[in-house]
Amino acid sequence: MRDTFGREINYMRVSVTDQCNLRCRYCMPAGAAAAHGTTMDEDEIIRAIEAASELGINKIRITGGEPLVRKNILSICRRAAAMPGIREATLTTNGLLLSDMAGPLKDAGIRRVNISLDTLDPEKYAHITRGGSLGQALRGIEAARSAGLRVKINTVLIGGFNDGELSRLADMTRENDMDIRFIELMPMTGDFGQDAYLTFREARALIPGLVPLPGDGAARMFQFEGARGRVGFISPMTCNFCSQCNRIRLTADGYLKPCLHSRQEIPIKGLSREKMKEAIRRAILAKPERHPYLSASRLSEAGRSMNRIGG
Ligand code: SAM
Ligand code: SF4
Repeated sequence: MRDTFGREINYMRVSVTDQCNLRCRYCMPAGAAAAHGTTMDEDEIIRAIEAASELGINKIRITGGEPLVRKNILSICRRAAAMPGIREATLTTNGLLLSDMAGPLKDAGIRRVNISLDTLDPEKYAHITRGGSLGQALRGIEAARSAGLRVKINTVLIGGFNDGELSRLADMTRENDMDIRFIELMPMTGDFGQDAYLTFREARALIPGLVPLPGDGAARMFQFEGARGRVGFISPMTCNFCSQCNRIRLTADGYLKPCLHSRQEIPIKGLSREKMKEAIRRAILAKPERHPYLSASRLSEAGRSMNRIGG
């Protein structure tokens, strides 16, 4: 269905939990306590996806928090992927639990996963994630590839943290049939100074040898000559892509967010499928033309940390 600015909205990000086995510095505040007891149950999530599909949503991404920490995640994936209106069901994960779960996810109908990886240095990984194990994440990536899942790596660009290793990260696409996408840091937590907000242009200049390709959705795409995978850049800060926005978000506690950076939320938890459909229609029609200007000193107006929205 189209919103009031003529954009076709066909994509819903579905957060299944706000809990996480990591605490990335750009995503959640240090002392963030997860909300317990208010999460949508499996049937409610499936009902919401069905209702959305009747309004033309044909692509969903399961996210969180960390979606793989949710107990019934495989059942949610299986039911969502099997839905006739859903052309593609994908999942975003930090990869830590993929060693055991990649095969079952593939069996559940997931074909593609995005895996977050901001550095190849174990100490820096532990720092940015507040305690995570790089080795475990890399084993997860390997398990996903071995299980036959298509893998995209998501890397948040952070000046003064990973700007010195962007080339090395991009080099992973030379031998591997796997994309990496560098994403401009968005000001969600207020933990970063202006220097951390590396722009797409600055980042691209740090990776010599990239040849432009046609764009892919919100991403500008490039490739090294002869490489098997591609390198993308997503620039929510400098090249605001609101005019091409095709998505709505559903939070784990059952609120539709028409725009990532807006406080507006429409509750759907506990509603019947018809009522959910009506609420989703309202959320699509409530999408603003664009989000406000954001910077290191002008934080997102989302009103929630990223793990509680579903990135
Ligand atoms: N836990 C999973 C993961 O990390 O992939 C899924 C949820 S996480 C909120 C989804 C994505 O949002 C991750 O790729 C993460 O890097 C990204 N993200 C979180 N906070 C961000 C921020 N402030 N700016 C840019 N990307 C952010
Ligand atoms: Fe967890 Fe993903 Fe947020 Fe990191 S980015 S704290 S892995 S939800």
